[in-house]
Amino acid sequence: PNSKLPDIGTSIFTVMTSLANEHKAINLSQGFPDFNCPEPLMQLVSKYMHEGFNQYAPMAGMPQLRQKISQKTERLYGYRPDADTEVTVTSGATEALNAAITAVVKPNDEVILLEPCYDSYAPVIRLNGGSPIYVPLALPDFSVDWDQVKRRISSRTRLIIINTPHNPTGAVITKQDMDTLANLLDGTDILVLSDEVYEHMVFDGQQHYSVLQHPQLRERSFVVSSFGKTYHTTGWKIGYAVAPALLTSELRKMHQFITFCSPTPLQLAIADFMDEASHYLELQDFYQTKRDFFAAQLRNTRFEFTPSAGTYFQLVKYDAITSEFDQDFARRLTTDTGVAAIPVSAFYHDKTDNKFLRLCFAKSEETLRAAGERLAQV
Ligand code: PMP
Ligand code: GLN
Repeated sequence: PNSKLPDIGTSIFTVMTSLANEHKAINLSQGFPDFNCPEPLMQLVSKYMHEGFNQYAPMAGMPQLRQKISQKTERLYGYRPDADTEVTVTSGATEALNAAITAVVKPNDEVILLEPCYDSYAPVIRLNGGSPIYVPLALPDFSVDWDQVKRRISSRTRLIIINTPHNPTGAVITKQDMDTLANLLDGTDILVLSDEVYEHMVFDGQQHYSVLQHPQLRERSFVVSSFGKTYHTTGWKIGYAVAPALLTSELRKMHQFITFCSPTPLQLAIADFMDEASHYLELQDFYQTKRDFFAAQLRNTRFEFTPSAGTYFQLVKYDAITSEFDQDFARRLTTDTGVAAIPVSAFYHDKTDNKFLRLCFAKSEETLRAAGERLAQV
């Protein structure tokens, strides 16, 4: 009754994970690793807890962690944001996205979203009185149709949200895309929110291209990332936003009333562990090995796919198997075959069904092999 989001139910990630647990299916639906985070990282958390770092962190994040984020950004993207005024630690990327959108979207503003897209953007836009303007990514490779983006820009456009590497498709945005976007926005006051939580998972020798590498774009952008993806700690919910000082100041006004601050011992442990650059530098190879292993399993099935270019997700097309609606097929695959996946229509506002499922390969080889054997029966 009188709901603020009447059409929104429980998130597909919760629905599919619950169904997987209920039916003891192999859960390749919600994106999270089935292996543990590095032992030294856990020891650091324990150390800081025992040393008494168990009270509120500074609102913007522990200074040590903001420094490390700033240094890492310079190392990877050749740009050093100011740790005091341009970096904010949040409770997961989800909070950073919420705070960024809430900071800038006013009633009647329009926000351009490229579909399929992650499920947390549109509801937050709407709760702030804004309207999502949906532009579909172009099949077969889910590239951005910039001409169509251009046509949907209006005097009311406040923000465009991009996501690279892209959940759920694995597509990556190139430097050329970023140049095109910068040209489109030149002379406007439209802002950019760039969701780069999978920045370390790009395959086949390609490199992630960050908005932070692009001088014209970064001066109008929030860039969001998540330690959950990088350190196999999705349950810790520590993320961050990098943005110019004026935008950061507005984002922090939101952050201080959403959560105020994020867990102190986790921030301190991550700050120390970030010195082990080998961890994030090796993540690309680590996940490419998993992607390739899983692709080898999938080649024994009737699912069709192009190996994922980025993220820890593999899209598979199933129209050679059935014409069922993807949400029905995903349910049946969980209950009858014992493998849970995410139906990609859940990432479209109008449930566009292109007959794709998303499978998470952030799993042990044992899990991926067992899933492959079951999928080969379909
Ligand atoms: N953006 C995208 C594209 C994601 O896939 C996720 C995690 N599923 C998030 C944001 C949220 O990240 P966090 O868990 O750090 O809140
Ligand atoms: N980001 C994860 C995914 O895409 C899920 C996060 C969540 O459950 N909200 O699977």
